[in-house]
Amino acid sequence: MVEVYRPETLEQALDKLAVGEHTLFSGGTDLMVRHSVRPGMSPTFDRDVVFVDAIDELKHITEAEIEPEGEGAPDCALFIGAGVTLSEIESHPLVPDVLRQGVAKIAAPALRNRATMAGNICNASPAADSLPALYLLNARVVLSSLKGQREMALEDFIMAPGLTQLRADEMLTHVVIPKQDLPESFYHKVGTRAANALTKVSVAGLARVVKGRTGKGKVVDWRVAFGAVGPTIVRSRELESLLVGQPTEKLTKPRFVDEVVGMYSEIIRPIDDQRSTADYRHQASINLLRRWLSQLSMQ
Ligand SMILES: Cc1cc2nc3c(=O)[nH]c(=O)nc-3n(C[C@H](O)[C@H](O)[C@H](O)COP(=O)(O)OP(=O)(O)OC[C@H]3O[C@@H](n4cnc5c(N)ncnc54)[C@H](O)[C@@H]3O)c2cc1C
Repeated sequence: MVEVYRPETLEQALDKLAVGEHTLFSGGTDLMVRHSVRPGMSPTFDRDVVFVDAIDELKHITEAEIEPEGEGAPDCALFIGAGVTLSEIESHPLVPDVLRQGVAKIAAPALRNRATMAGNICNASPAADSLPALYLLNARVVLSSLKGQREMALEDFIMAPGLTQLRADEMLTHVVIPKQDLPESFYHKVGTRAANALTKVSVAGLARVVKGRTGKGKVVDWRVAFGAVGPTIVRSRELESLLVGQPTEKLTKPRFVDEVVGMYSEIIRPIDDQRSTADYRHQASINLLRRWLSQLSMQ
């Protein structure tokens, strides 16, 4: 017989997780679908369920000091608690714009009032709409258990579709976004409809261009991440470094743009599934990359 717990403190939740296997339940918007049996029937769970939506200490978005990871690295970060809903993230002034754009594209307002970003992350879908922005922002996750806390880069936490580094006695308690001076950004999602549609392909980008004395632009920061084109989000710091330091004028040269697009083409490896075909996904993501490079060339 499956039991259900609804702890009100983190300590109570971690006490529960320390013994046996459980299903952690935040907003339940993924779980209710995953465990559904038939329309009109209640879902069934095979393990005890721990609801984590009543833990007030996980419902905050705050800025706090962090240990810098090296010289010039940020000494302050944004902490987003696992109990914060997508709607709260979408409207919070401290949340970086690129993340707000991604979160705002998830489902519809009623669902965002209930669902959490922690659930979106731990579901580990390559099509999850919060993930491309979080990858670009170098987000980290804090995993807590009675034994203590461990923190790791989000891209190390997510291993494969539906698979993360989370241990049975742990829960994700915070997402940490190092404070950074953020340049212009965008999030573009391709779905069957503008709202309430799962992603066929998505692209998030950040770029900063500075102008020299001659008025000519130079790229000083450039990041791009693709969703739903591989088993996890695709971001390559190596390819990004090819763009950084380049004059924007170079982005008007078809040969250079073809070279960059060609290299991304190699690492974008989508699959066919019920939502789209691999060919469509590949072409759509490359088109979005080309469009963005061309916009930058005009700066
Ligand atoms: C109609 C519909 C439309 C949707 N549209 C989109 C969309 O457009 N884009 C998109 O990205 N997603 C979409 N989703 C998926 C889903 O709504 C999101 O992934 C949502 O963010 C999940 O959050 P949740 O709090 O409801 O997670 P839950 O369903 O509660 O949990 C999801 C997973 O995360 C685990 N988990 C939850 N919280 C924690 C925690 N604190 N620590 C460790 N593990 C945890 C759970 O055990 C479970 O495995 C849609 C879902 C539905 C039903």
